[in-house]
Amino acid sequence: MTSSFLDVLKKRAVLLDGGFGTELIRHGFPQGACPESWNVDKPQTVRKIHQDYFKAGSDAVLTNSFGGSRIKLASRGFEDRCYDFNRAAAVVANKVKPGGRFVGGSMGPTGKFLKPHGEYSEEEFEAAFAEQARGLTDGGVDFLLIETQYDLREALCALRAARAVSSLPVFVTMTFSHLPRGFFTLMGNSVSACLRELEKNSVPVVGANCTVNSREMVELVKVMREATSLPLIAQANAGKPSLSVEGRVTYSQDLEDYVRYVPEIVRSGANVVGGCCGTDPDYIREMARIIPKA
Ligand SMILES: [Zn+2]
Repeated sequence: MTSSFLDVLKKRAVLLDGGFGTELIRHGFPQGACPESWNVDKPQTVRKIHQDYFKAGSDAVLTNSFGGSRIKLASRGFEDRCYDFNRAAAVVANKVKPGGRFVGGSMGPTGKFLKPHGEYSEEEFEAAFAEQARGLTDGGVDFLLIETQYDLREALCALRAARAVSSLPVFVTMTFSHLPRGFFTLMGNSVSACLRELEKNSVPVVGANCTVNSREMVELVKVMREATSLPLIAQANAGKPSLSVEGRVTYSQDLEDYVRYVPEIVRSGANVVGGCCGTDPDYIREMARIIPKA
């Protein structure tokens, strides 16, 4: 009898993986290409990155499908590959999954906006996410993670879509900016508005990722903990990105400064932790060492 991801997180803090885009670039991914196409064209590279994270101590890794909704893929001319790319993303990650660990299907935002701010209807967003969720589910992921959502309405579209086509558990993380008046999504949703609505929709695990660094994440976890008693995911960025003279993206928070705040993130109420942009397997290895003692 194998435990589910939800069983494990009831017992202890669970560790996810770190940044994927930054790892792809380190492995030769060219700027402007479609990351999800590598699940089919360069599966050995995608597999290697997942393997590096599992070796570093990740309990679960997320598939290379962040931009895999049909709408997001359309921006690179790959809308007809939505199902294939997502199914392949799940298959590739599952190939290197050790026993007792997990693969989560990543579902990032479309990059577009709903009416009246943008051109899309909720039905169009739902259709775009449903195809993605179907590919990930057929490829064999253990759960779906609707992540880095900047619009609560879009997150709810993705949630409805995922549930319509998949019986897997679906988790949701929003991304919040740290403003003088508190933490808000790009569309102005507050932490409590997001978490309460997600809880009302019976999402079993909620949280925040990206945008903020690990120091700010401590405060954000405290705010999230006040808003809900659900298990919380927290995946901070390694600070802010900047472009080096050679045209490489670097992040401002180094490993030592990043991990300094990890114990407090856990003690403040995060049940599932991991990295986001700018973090790599070295960050995860260090977190795997720290978290059991937090
Ligand atoms: Zn990020």
